[in-house]
Amino acid sequence: MRVVQKFGGSSVADADSIKRVARRIVATQQRGLEVVVVISAMGDTTDELMELALKVSPQPRARELDMLLTAGERMSAALLAMAINDLGATARSFTGSQAGVITTGTHGDARIIDITPGRIVSALDDGDIVIVAGFQGVSQTTKDVTTLGRGASDTTAVALAAALHASHCEIYSDVDGVFTADPRIVPGARRIPEICYEDMLEMAANGAKILHLRCVEYARRENVPVHVRSSFSDRPGTWVKDINYEEGGMEQPLISGVAHDRSEAKITIVGVPDQVGAAASIFTTVADADINIDMIVQNVSREHEARTDISFTLAQQDGAKAIKALRAVQEQIGFFDVLYNDQVGKVSVVGVGMRSHPGVTARFFRALADAGVNIGMISTSEIRISVVVDIDDVDRAVRAGHTAFGLDSDEQAIVYAGTGR
Ligand code: ASP
Ligand code: MG
Repeated sequence: MRVVQKFGGSSVADADSIKRVARRIVATQQRGLEVVVVISAMGDTTDELMELALKVSPQPRARELDMLLTAGERMSAALLAMAINDLGATARSFTGSQAGVITTGTHGDARIIDITPGRIVSALDDGDIVIVAGFQGVSQTTKDVTTLGRGASDTTAVALAAALHASHCEIYSDVDGVFTADPRIVPGARRIPEICYEDMLEMAANGAKILHLRCVEYARRENVPVHVRSSFSDRPGTWVKDINYEEGGMEQPLISGVAHDRSEAKITIVGVPDQVGAAASIFTTVADADINIDMIVQNVSREHEARTDISFTLAQQDGAKAIKALRAVQEQIGFFDVLYNDQVGKVSVVGVGMRSHPGVTARFFRALADAGVNIGMISTSEIRISVVVDIDDVDRAVRAGHTAFGLDSDEQAIVYAGTGR
């Protein structure tokens, strides 16, 4: 049986941690498993390399930035292999490119197209433990080294698990698993023992940082069970997998968890002419600037004025770019003004159970009202309800949602110190 284990940066922050992780990996092999390890850069290495690059060059070429950042994972991979070899097992480290991770050519945000794991398989056949540098690959077209986006070692791990037909993928960080809410906000949040891919996908897409979004997409598509757990304990974590509630005779939870996200901002376009094509022109402008948007609200047009306001949310990091692009078309489209507000947060309740239960929205909104939280924007999917609220109301909204759906635990057992990396 094969397993892929991924260790995040907090699990390999220094020499002692690397040795500790090495012991854990060797113990896994001694249980008779073939082990492939995907490793992140040590501690804050990626951030530090990024800062260094910006000191040298304010706008570094994306190709060179990828050359630089991939070095972080290469270091930890080699060091981990050394530590394992000292324990009497044999380990071989590989860069993403050597491991056969073939990607698109978009530096900084490349997608995995294919995995050709020939070298990994032959190392496993030799009885070696394989260590792969996470978060990186090689472009199919340019043959340049690429990175897959921040936090993407998770994705490397799941992609390898799928390509190698591993029984499952273990993702280790410094937290015990996926929680019903951020325990720093909700002390009574609980570890979720099992969560289906759909709910995990919505949690990750709406701010839960424990797993990289694309990793969950990949896991769902390839049906790879993922065990999210702590490298600092032996406790079971959270299994992300396909769950058939009916067959298992289990009760489907109404709400799996409450996610929040403080990284978005809201743009309001004031006085948009209420005519065919105006919204199309606005969102074409935003799309052409390569900006992803999240929620959209268009107000009813004010009487006699034939004008309306359109608000949408986007990542804060795209804010300046969006404003600039919209200003450039203001006259042509004929709206009055563009307003920007980054003092907002998004709070979402997620659960496949809401498909078959009416009244979930009412219960959530009642709880927000009772907590004195004003709702700025609303969006829903079949299994999620999200609201945008004032940044100062985010914590209260998360707690209100958590309590309203009966997720609070009496125990305040979890002392949360981890970063989830
Ligand atoms: N080291 C990379 C980062 O910090 C990738 C990862 O840790 O998953 O984003
Ligand atoms: Mg991570």
